[in-house]
Amino acid sequence: MRYISTRGNAPALNFEDVLLAGLASDGGLYVPENLPRFTQEEIASWAGLPYHELAFRIMRPFVEGSISDADFKKILEETYGNFAHSAIAPLRQLNANEWVMELFHGPTLAFKDFALQLLGRLLDHILLKRGERVVIIGATSGDTGSAAIEGCRRCENVDIFILHPHQRVSEVQRRQMTTILGENIHNIAVEGNFDDCQEMVKASFADQSFLKGTRLVAVNSINWARIMAQIVYYFHAALQLGAPARSVAFSVPTGNFGDIFAGYLARNMGLPVSQLVVATNRNDILHRFMSGNQYFKDTLHASLSPSMDIMVSSNFERLLFDLHGRNGATLAELMSTFKATGKLSVEDDRWVEARKLFDSLAVSDEDTCATIADVFKRTGEVLDPHTAIGVKAARECRRSLSTPMVILGTAHPVKFPDAVEKAGVGKALELPAHLSDLFQREERCTVLPNAIEAVQSFVAQHGNRGKPL
Ligand SMILES: *Cc1c(COP(=O)(O)O)cnc(C)c1O
Repeated sequence: MRYISTRGNAPALNFEDVLLAGLASDGGLYVPENLPRFTQEEIASWAGLPYHELAFRIMRPFVEGSISDADFKKILEETYGNFAHSAIAPLRQLNANEWVMELFHGPTLAFKDFALQLLGRLLDHILLKRGERVVIIGATSGDTGSAAIEGCRRCENVDIFILHPHQRVSEVQRRQMTTILGENIHNIAVEGNFDDCQEMVKASFADQSFLKGTRLVAVNSINWARIMAQIVYYFHAALQLGAPARSVAFSVPTGNFGDIFAGYLARNMGLPVSQLVVATNRNDILHRFMSGNQYFKDTLHASLSPSMDIMVSSNFERLLFDLHGRNGATLAELMSTFKATGKLSVEDDRWVEARKLFDSLAVSDEDTCATIADVFKRTGEVLDPHTAIGVKAARECRRSLSTPMVILGTAHPVKFPDAVEKAGVGKALELPAHLSDLFQREERCTVLPNAIEAVQSFVAQHGNRGKPL
C-alpha cells in the first residue's frame, strides 16, 4: 500500500514510513492511495470472528509490504488480548434499536487505546527491524497522554516524553500517566497551561537539532495508523447488528474528526453505513460546517467533555480531500485560504454530497448532563459526558427508526466524575479492577519551568532509556 499527501506535493510513502512520518512535507496529511474495498460476501463471511481476527482481515491491505501476515497476526492478538472485556468492543442496548458500543475496556479506559495499543507495538516491530530508536514527544490535557504512555511502555526502541500542564489535569488522569513506570517513560509537568505544552511540542518538531539526529515521531490523532485501527470496530458492531444484509447508522462524539473519519472509511470500504452523526460540544466547528457550510475558527470554550475541546479539527482535511475529487492542488489552495483567513466553505454540490452521509449536532453542557441523567433514570447505565453527547445527537438527528443506531462510547464515566456528579447521578463510580489501586501507586514525574530550553535539555539528557542521547 502506498500513501499520498492531501496537498499533492510530498513523496508517496509506504506504511512503514507513514507510521514514522506525522505531517507530510507539504503540510498535508497522508491517506491511502487506493482504499481497499471488500465485497458483501466477504464481509458477510466475517460474522462472528474474534476481534483480532476481524482486525487482521480489515487492516491487512494497509500494512501489506511492510509487515508479514504472521507478525501482524501476532501483534493484533497481543494488542487486543490486553483488554478487560472479552468482547473487546461490546454493544449495550439503551433503547429500541439504539446501542452504545463500549470502547473503554482498554488499559486507560478510553477509545484511544484501540489505536495507541496497536501503534506502540507496530512502532516497536518496525524499529527493531530497522535497528533504529525514536523519541516521541506529545502534549496532553488528559486522555491522549495516558493512552500513548500505556501503548509505548513495552517498546524497546521508543522513549516517550509526555508534557502536561502542572496541576491542571485531574488526579485520575495524572495518575494514569505518572504511575506507569519505566526507564523509557518520562512525564513532564510544565509550569504553564496546555497551549504552552502544545507550543513546545510544535517547536520541537520544527527544529529537532536538540535530538542529535534521533528521529522524532508524532502520536497525535493525525497519525494514519491511529485512524486505520479505528476502522475495525465499525465493522465489528455492524456485523453483530445484521450487516452487510442490513445498514447501520453511527453517532460519534467528535473533536479532531479522527474517530468519525474512520467510520467514513469503513463505509467506503464496503460496509453499509447509512448515516454518520457528528456529535460535538459547544466547540462546534464541525457542526458549523455540516449544518451551514461554514468552517471557521472560533474561541476555545472549556466544557464538561474536555477531550473534544478543540478550535480546529485536524483530520477534517482528509474528508475535504475526498470531497474535492482527491485533487491535492485544490486542497493546498483551500488550506492556505483557511490558514490566512481562519475560515473556509466549499462549493454547494460538494457540501450536499457530504450531507448525504453526515448529520450533526452541537450539545451544550446542560444537555450533556440532562442526557446522562435521563439514560441513568431509564436504564441504570452511567454515561461519560462524551458518550452522552453522542446519544443526544443520535436521538436528534436520527433518520430512520428501523436502522440500528450505534453510539460510540468513547470513555468510561469514572474518568469524568465531575460531569456525572453535575448530572445528579447519585451512584458511586468505581475504578475497574486493573486500576483499583491507582491511588496507592508510586508516581514518577518531573516538574519543569515553562521554558522550551528546559524541556528540550531534559529530553536530550534522558532520551536514551534515561541516559543522554
Ligand atoms: C479523543 C476523544 C474524543 C474525540 O475523538 P476525535 O478522534 O478527536 O474525534 C472523544 N471522546 C473521548 C473520550 C476522547 O478521548
